[in-house]
Amino acid sequence: MSELAIRKEIISTCLKMEELGINQGTSGNVSHRFKDGILITPSGVSYDLLKPKDIVFVPFSDKNSYKGEYPPSSELDFHFDILKTKPDIECVLHNHSIYATAMAICRMDIPAHHYMVGVAGGKKIPCASYATFGTPELSQNIIKALDGYSACLLANHGVVTVGANLKKALWIAIEVENLAKQYAMAKQIGEPVILSDKEMDKILEKFKSYGLKK
Ligand SMILES: [Zn+2]
Repeated sequence: MSELAIRKEIISTCLKMEELGINQGTSGNVSHRFKDGILITPSGVSYDLLKPKDIVFVPFSDKNSYKGEYPPSSELDFHFDILKTKPDIECVLHNHSIYATAMAICRMDIPAHHYMVGVAGGKKIPCASYATFGTPELSQNIIKALDGYSACLLANHGVVTVGANLKKALWIAIEVENLAKQYAMAKQIGEPVILSDKEMDKILEKFKSYGLKK
C-alpha cells in the first residue's frame, strides 16, 4: 500500500470507529507500519478534521524524532513498541468502547461465554495490568497481555486490537465490544455459563478457517 493510501485508511478507520460508537472524541488512536517506522494519528486533533498530511510518521530509530505538523498520539509508546517488537503485526487500534472498558474497569478478562471470543486467537480476551496512560509501563503490560492474542483490555482504560490490516483490527475491536456487551447483559439476567476448555479447543480449530481472509 502507498503511504497516501495508508494515511487515508488510518483516517477512515478513525471515522468508522466514531460512526460505530466504539470511540468517543479524540480518545482513540490508530497506527500502521510504514517502511522503517510507523504512521500514527496525531495528538488532540478531532477525527472529522484529520487530513492525510496530519498523520505523523515516527521512525523506529528514534521515538522522539517524529515527522508531522502535530505531535503523535499520547499513546505513541504502545503503538510504537508493538509494531517494533512484533514484525507480524501491521497495525494497532485503540479505543475506549463502553462495555469493554467497563469490564476493564472491573479488571476482568472477557471469558469464553460465546464462541466469538476465539476471534482474538484464544479462550478469552485478556485484561492487561494497570499502568498510567502514555507510559512505558502500560506498553510493557499490553505487550505481555497480547502474547498469542490479537486483542486485550487495558485495566481502567480501554481496548487494544492488532492485525495484519486495519480492516481486521477494526473487525476484532467491534467483536470485542459486542462480546463485552453480551457478557454484561447476561450478568444482568443470570449467571453466564462459560464454554469449557475442550469446547474452546474445537472452536479455535474452526476459527483457523473463519473470518476475514484479508
Ligand atoms: Zn486511551
